[in-house]
Amino acid sequence: MAQTERTTYGSISAGDPYIPTGGNGGYRAEHYDLNLSYRVATNRLNATAIITARALMPLDRFSLDFAGLSIEKVLVNGVRPSKVTHSSRKLVISPATTIAAEAVFEVMVRYRGAPHPVRSAWGDVGWEELDDGVLVSGQPCGAASWFPCNDHPSDKATYRIEIACESAYTVVSNGVLSSRSSRSGRTSWTFDVREPMATYLATVLIGRYRRRDQADAPVAYNLYFPARLATRVETDFARLTEMIAFFADRFGSYPFASYSVVVTEDELEIPLEAHGLAIFGSNHVDGNHGSDRLIAHELAHQWYGNSLTVARWQDIWLQEGFACYAEWLWEEQRGGRTADALAVLHRGRVAALPRDIVVGDPGPHAMFDDRVYKRGALALHAIRKSLGDEAFFAALRAYTAARRHGQVSTDDFVDFFSEHTGSRAIGGFVARWVQQSALPSL
Ligand SMILES: [Zn+2]
Repeated sequence: MAQTERTTYGSISAGDPYIPTGGNGGYRAEHYDLNLSYRVATNRLNATAIITARALMPLDRFSLDFAGLSIEKVLVNGVRPSKVTHSSRKLVISPATTIAAEAVFEVMVRYRGAPHPVRSAWGDVGWEELDDGVLVSGQPCGAASWFPCNDHPSDKATYRIEIACESAYTVVSNGVLSSRSSRSGRTSWTFDVREPMATYLATVLIGRYRRRDQADAPVAYNLYFPARLATRVETDFARLTEMIAFFADRFGSYPFASYSVVVTEDELEIPLEAHGLAIFGSNHVDGNHGSDRLIAHELAHQWYGNSLTVARWQDIWLQEGFACYAEWLWEEQRGGRTADALAVLHRGRVAALPRDIVVGDPGPHAMFDDRVYKRGALALHAIRKSLGDEAFFAALRAYTAARRHGQVSTDDFVDFFSEHTGSRAIGGFVARWVQQSALPSL
């Protein structure tokens, strides 16, 4: 079906108009093995990435997204390629012999340099030095700032991420910490990500963190935070176990092996979600539950965004609308305003804004526009009201189970909900709230 498109874009990009140069449609990455040696004091990185991929077509040339670091060596299946070029964003590799369609191949890239964020339409994204440490915020195109990758959410893979740095620092990454060892003042941390992960959700956090483990059901979680914020963090996250259990009840079981929360010493403009992780700034903890809404939002992304990932960026309401609706569900659950009251409030606020975007295809510059979040949540609330709570949440649980660790799109959501509930109204709700700019009434 997409064969001609793939041929056109195969060695250039994934063909997503929101990020025209991002990704590559000619192969699928299956596994990333990243070995990073980093010095916080000097921001120097020495690294090796081994990418296992499967060709979707004969490849005499393919690309990886990669920005800002120097390539030392590239091998494809252990052999030097006939040509390697590295522009500002793309590493283009011509293997010595054409890779056959369906063949599994391995690319080794050794690289080094001073990692820094990628300039993008969404600001600087990717590897970022903090006052005393590191944070990676990859959405939507920042992964290329620290490892060569097929940087598009339609291509998820498993990972092994090993990071060594000065022993004074704690390193946090995605997945499960499988080993840690120290030698000569440096500590090496290894993380295994066994569920498929989108590149933009890969992260590294390095800082002087204290760690507190919580073994409670339904999922173990870890809090990482600067010691001076201990009291505030423990207060603000005291209901996290209850929140995870509540969302697991509404959305289906938590999709990953663990959950980590990192609170940085630095202030951050917004909290960030990553695979199995959420990142908050010191300004987001006040010791008075002031960020409850944001804690709920980032947790909900583990289901909507990280487990169920959009296959193209224009459908981002399926991530942000759901995470926003989870905020309303949590407020209702903890005895605050009902989701219905919040829907009325936010419909009123949206009504005061210009109707110049279509939430289901907002354009790259409006991907993170508040109307994408609020109208997405309003669409869900309208569907919930029409189906009733029992049918709505049963369909939601079936949907997150059926698409677990996979890809989603607006059409697929409408088809799934219509079929599961037998309701013919779902397409209409999505069309009115998400696919047109006029604002419907609740
Ligand atoms: Zn979000």
